[in-house]
Amino acid sequence: MEPTSKPVPLDAKPIGSIYADSVPIFLHEQVLDEVLAYSEQDLRRELGGFLLGGYHRDVRTYVEIRRFWPAVDATSRAASLTFTHDTWSKLHRDVERQFPDEMVVGWQHTHPNMGLFLSGYDLFIQQHFFRQPWQVAMVVDPCRREFEFFQWRGGEIVDCGFYLLPAARSSLRSS
Ligand SMILES: [Zn+2]
Repeated sequence: MEPTSKPVPLDAKPIGSIYADSVPIFLHEQVLDEVLAYSEQDLRRELGGFLLGGYHRDVRTYVEIRRFWPAVDATSRAASLTFTHDTWSKLHRDVERQFPDEMVVGWQHTHPNMGLFLSGYDLFIQQHFFRQPWQVAMVVDPCRREFEFFQWRGGEIVDCGFYLLPAARSSLRSS
């Protein structure tokens, strides 16, 4: 780590492969709990939602996931999840109204018993709606009880690790 880097919080727990040349992801434990509980609500159809938080450039850059927003209007079928235009416009209206300080930093959806990967359609969504280098995707398989993050790395979307922040911690910005 460069001497000028903001140190990773001591209580942040690295999970999986964290690439030095990608934007590190910090995920609050209570958000992870919310996402996993939501993902288990339907084991036959895909569910999805949005990850809210911020992209910060203090000394080093990082993305912080502070909230989860279930996309209840998404049209769900057995093996695909469609974010309609209504989903998008409602999302932005709701987020702007309720969480004016938060940005949409990524999206989440489930793959019931299908495993952890991004399908061609998932890649399409990432490339068209989450194209910023700090915008991430999260896939949860609620049947196999696994999840994975994906992020941009050198123009590609790759699976990656993250830092888990313990539940008691407030936003990184105030630390
Ligand atoms: Zn998918």
